[in-house]
Amino acid sequence: MTYPGPGPIANAPLIDTFGRLHDNLRISVTDKCNIRCFYCMPEGPINYIDHSEILRYEEMERFVRVAVGLGVTKIRLTGGEPLVRKDLDKLIAMLTAVPGIRDIALTTNAVLLEQHAQSLYDAGLRRLNIHIDTLDRERFHHITRRDDFDKVMRGIEKAQAVGFPTIKINAVAVKNLVEPDIVPLARFGRERGIEIRYIEFMPLDHQGLWDKRKVLTADEMLALLTNEIGPLEAIPDADPRAPATEYRFADGIGRIGFIASVSKPFCLNCNRLRLTSDGKLRYCLFAIEEMDVRELLRNGGSDDEIAAVIRENVRRKWIGHEINAQKFIPPPRPMHSIGG
Ligand code: SF4
Repeated sequence: MTYPGPGPIANAPLIDTFGRLHDNLRISVTDKCNIRCFYCMPEGPINYIDHSEILRYEEMERFVRVAVGLGVTKIRLTGGEPLVRKDLDKLIAMLTAVPGIRDIALTTNAVLLEQHAQSLYDAGLRRLNIHIDTLDRERFHHITRRDDFDKVMRGIEKAQAVGFPTIKINAVAVKNLVEPDIVPLARFGRERGIEIRYIEFMPLDHQGLWDKRKVLTADEMLALLTNEIGPLEAIPDADPRAPATEYRFADGIGRIGFIASVSKPFCLNCNRLRLTSDGKLRYCLFAIEEMDVRELLRNGGSDDEIAAVIRENVRRKWIGHEINAQKFIPPPRPMHSIGG
């Protein structure tokens, strides 16, 4: 595939054909994970990406430098589980040093967070999203098929002790499973000053488990929380392009957010691009097509050529996912190798 070469638009911001500005890059640093959430990964066997195809930290840093030149200012590191990749703090230190990067965040399942919290913080990380769907040990085991509940809770404690100013919990809400967890999670967040993000179940599992009837919607969760805890007030969008709709409890204690991709899609405000751990650029979590940058990064491609691929990827971006459309096709790549 040939890509258009560098041209007069070299410094123009990354605006797609729908007028959306792209300044947020999510990087999946590995497709491996140390737990097995049933809606993301099969128990096994799993065809992991061969190590030789995984981008080196220097290659990721170089890609970020080029992307910053096109207006990217925010980076989120995801997986699989990013903390299973060795020396992640080194990558964070490298990215923190890239001029123009204003914000770096990490999404983790916190199983290894107790060991790594301090070094991540020392490397410059300040924002953590911790993925946990329940505070019930048995349901945790049922969902993740691992017995790591205590490790996760210790990881959260350690992150707070280290002093991360922004810690949020991401909780995937599968209907007829996590209803008993919605209120306890919110209470937990109120007690600890942690924002809880409830994420509607999306069709990203590779086992065909997803069904719209298994989606606990934002409105259903809002009703549950209002009935059990108290009234919630919508918080005016700090950044209208952020995926979550945010609320605070009227009593002033605690914030929650809903990522309502299914019931209230927010694609018209999307500002995100994704880089997979094997060097594929994706303009959407649900994208069917991908564009390779590893070849250019590894075999003498110029920064202009890499920039041209990023531009072309944005130019090709569709209006949004088609989860609610008859013709919806799940992405060929499994969630654990795309990243949240
Ligand atoms: S589904 Fe795709 S287009 Fe929509 S908000 Fe998510 S990444 Fe953006």
